[in-house]
Amino acid sequence: MSADCIFCKIVDGTIPAKKIHEDGEIVAFHDVNPQAPVHALIIPRRHIESLNDASAGDGALLGRMLLAGRELADRLGISAGYRIVVNSGASAGQSVFHLHVHLLGGRLMRWPPG
Ligand code: AMP
Repeated sequence: MSADCIFCKIVDGTIPAKKIHEDGEIVAFHDVNPQAPVHALIIPRRHIESLNDASAGDGALLGRMLLAGRELADRLGISAGYRIVVNSGASAGQSVFHLHVHLLGGRLMRWPPG
């Protein structure tokens, strides 16, 4: 838990979020500023600033986050086409420094991203 972290506050319920999954290790909720008809975030309960701060021992956790993305894609009706994104570092667009996986879908996605 990091005192100033907005996602830690979502994990502990101090600030509200539209949660769509919770278990002992991860929490998922709808993004407050969606970039697609479906835009969810999957985060670890434990405060990890970014992918750069994950260790080899976090491999199972990272895998669970990806699989949760797949399960949510199915539940939210976008399993035919969706995008999983992890922005790592400010220059890549990371604005919240608590590791998170974006799940985006429900519209045509182009490549490369901007
Ligand atoms: P990133 O830019 O990759 O760090 O993504 C951070 C995401 O968190 C953005 O898509 C924001 O819209 C989203 N976000 C920030 N604050 C909240 C919040 N309180 N509830 C839900 N999503 C949030």
